[in-house]
Amino acid sequence: MTLDDERQLIAAACRILAARGLAPGYLGHVSLRVDSERLLIRCRGPLERGLAWTTPDDVRLVDFDGAPGAEGELDGWTAPNELPLHSEVLRTRPDVGAVVHAHPPAVVAADLAGLGVRPIIGAYDIPGARLAAGGVPVYGRGVLVRNQKLAAEMVTAMAGRPVVILRGHGLTSAGTGVRDAVLNAIAVDQIAQLSLAVVSAGGVLKDLPAEDMAELPDLGGAFNHETAWRHELARLR
Ligand SMILES: [Zn+2]
Repeated sequence: MTLDDERQLIAAACRILAARGLAPGYLGHVSLRVDSERLLIRCRGPLERGLAWTTPDDVRLVDFDGAPGAEGELDGWTAPNELPLHSEVLRTRPDVGAVVHAHPPAVVAADLAGLGVRPIIGAYDIPGARLAAGGVPVYGRGVLVRNQKLAAEMVTAMAGRPVVILRGHGLTSAGTGVRDAVLNAIAVDQIAQLSLAVVSAGGVLKDLPAEDMAELPDLGGAFNHETAWRHELARLR
């Protein structure tokens, strides 16, 4: 993929997060590792309107400390205050290629309600069930992750998992690429929405029985990721 292809991919990811209700305002960003010192990240431009209207132009090349990654990259655009949230994950986890940070209301509400994100579902969403069964930890501080110290705290709380909930704030999701990171975030948001619906209806959350979890097949990356991503892109149109 060229840098321009990657800018398009990240812009689509931002629009998908907004369309799915994970980034209802203008806060949140998606990043992608380019090399050992630089990343592409959704920045804020002169005509900022929110994630739903992200264009490839809003995706800029910066280094891990926020300096322009090439000449002119930050002319007219500002890197996010929470850039350290992205760079610290990429710096400390070689398995991660892309990072999503968003403020999904359902995830924030489910955490504040003490529900967390648990493996309450089965075949409803198999990748989501596996993700929840492996654990979705919580970073318990509602701070703006604007420096390396806070980002390191968040990475410690994340404990190598794909997603960490940021209390009173949102979530950080990691993946080998942009698609994985976005789909992981959507899966967690879906479980949070279901959890709130169950509790609102007077129900009690129960984890899926272990024997049912063990019975869930791995449908493979092509189905889980390529089809799911085409679906997300198609929803935008
Ligand atoms: Zn934030």
